[in-house]
Amino acid sequence: MKYLIHDSTIVTGNLTREILYQASILVEDGIIKDIGKTNVLQRNHPDIAKINGAGKVVFPGLINCHTHLLATADKGILEDFGFPTTLKFPTTGRGLLNEDERNIFAKLACIEAIRSGTTTLLEISDSIEDYAQTLNSTGLRFFIGETMKDIDDAKFKDGYFEYSSHNRENAIGKASDLIDKWHGKSNGRMNGFVAPHAPETVSPELLRASRDLSETYETGYTIHLSQSYKEIEAIKRVRGVLPTHYLFANEFLSDRLVAAHCRYVDQSEIALLGQLNVGVSHNSAIGARRGAAAPVRELLSSGCSLGLGSDNMAEDMVEVMRAALFHERVRRNDEMHPQPEDVLEWATMGGARTLGISNQVGSIEIGKKADLFMIDPMKAHLVPTLRIVSSFVHNGISSDVTDVMIDGKWAMKNSIILTIPEAEIIQAAEEIGHRVWNQLIEENPNVPFPIKLPPEPFQDSKN
Ligand SMILES: [Zn+2]
Repeated sequence: MKYLIHDSTIVTGNLTREILYQASILVEDGIIKDIGKTNVLQRNHPDIAKINGAGKVVFPGLINCHTHLLATADKGILEDFGFPTTLKFPTTGRGLLNEDERNIFAKLACIEAIRSGTTTLLEISDSIEDYAQTLNSTGLRFFIGETMKDIDDAKFKDGYFEYSSHNRENAIGKASDLIDKWHGKSNGRMNGFVAPHAPETVSPELLRASRDLSETYETGYTIHLSQSYKEIEAIKRVRGVLPTHYLFANEFLSDRLVAAHCRYVDQSEIALLGQLNVGVSHNSAIGARRGAAAPVRELLSSGCSLGLGSDNMAEDMVEVMRAALFHERVRRNDEMHPQPEDVLEWATMGGARTLGISNQVGSIEIGKKADLFMIDPMKAHLVPTLRIVSSFVHNGISSDVTDVMIDGKWAMKNSIILTIPEAEIIQAAEEIGHRVWNQLIEENPNVPFPIKLPPEPFQDSKN
C-alpha cells in the first residue's frame, strides 16, 4: 500500500530539528519512502493514493518509555497519597479487576495514549498475557515486560528482606513465556522486554538472570530505580550501598537498560549511569505529583539517553511533555532551559534511543517506520503558529491531535479512534472503577479513607 500525505507542515524531529512547509510524505508498506516539497513529490509520484494533510501539522509519534496501563483504574485516588501509598488497604481498585475488566482498563488507557499522539509504549505489569491480545488489537507499538521479583512478599510486608529461588524461577518462566509468544509479532509492532521490578524486590541472582534473559532474547530490559526514599533506605540497610551501586555491583547497568525515575540519584550514581550510557525514563508528570524531580540536565550531560514516561494513572504524553518542561525549569530555577524543542526530542528520538529503536522510529525521515500524528493548529490556544513546537509543548492539549498512524496504519482518523470502541469502553470503565473502589471500602471498614465517593457512576448522556 502506497500513498502521499500532502500539503502539511512537517516537524521532522531529525538531527537539525528541521520543519518543512507545504510538504508531503510518501508512505509505502508502512515505511517512509520520501519527504519533501509537495509539488516535487506530486510530480515524482503522480498516480498514487493521496491523503490531504492541508491545514495539519505532522509530528513524529510520541514514545512512552514507562507505563502501567491498568493503574488508570486508580485515577483520582492514588495521585495524592504518596508513594508507596499511605492508604492502608490490602490492594487498590486495580487489584480487584477480573480478567475482562483488566482488558477494559487496558483499552481505556490506550484510548488516552492514542488521543495524545502516542505511537509506542513500554508496558510493565503482572500477567500481561491476560490482555496482550487487546494491546495488539489497538494498533499501537508495544514493548511488554512481565514484572519479575523474587522477594518473599509476606515477609517484605513485615520489613524482612528474604528472596526465594521458587519465586525467581516462576518469574523467569512467566517472563520468558510472554517474550516467546509476542516478540516480533504483528510485523515487529509487538515486542518483549525484560522487567525486574526494583532494587529492593530483586536479588542479585535475579538481576543477573534478567540481564542474561535480555541477552538471550536480544531485547532491552528495565527496572524502577531511585523511585522512593523507602527504596534507598532499604538498599542501604540490606546491601550497604545506594541503589545504583547495587545494580552496578551486579553488572546490571548497560546501554540496553531503561532505568525508570532516577529521582534521587546522587553525583556518584549519575556518573555511573552516564559512563555506562544507561537509558533513563523521566516520568515527569507523576514525579511532579509526588513532589520529586529527576536531575535531567545532569543525567543527560553524564552520557545517559533520556526518554519520557507517563507511569501511573494517566497516559497523556502531551501533558507529560509540558510537565517535563515546567518541572526542569523550576528545578534548575532557569527561565530558558529546557526549550520546547528539547522536550519534544525527549518524547520522540530520545525515547527511541532509550528503547533501542532509534533506527526504526522517533523522527520523520526516509527509511523509518511511519509512526506519526497530526494536529489541527487552528485553535485559540495555538495560534499564531509562529513556532509550532513551542505552541504545542507550552499550550497544546490532546484534543488538538486529529490523526495517529502507527506502522503506516491509522489508529485514529479525523478524531475518531478506529481500533477501540471508545464510548463503550469509557462507560464500562466508569462503572467498574466505581464498583471496585466501593468494594474495597466495604470489605475494609476499619481502614481510614478520607474520600467520600459519589453515590453512582456517570452515565454518558450521548449514548
Ligand atoms: Zn512504574
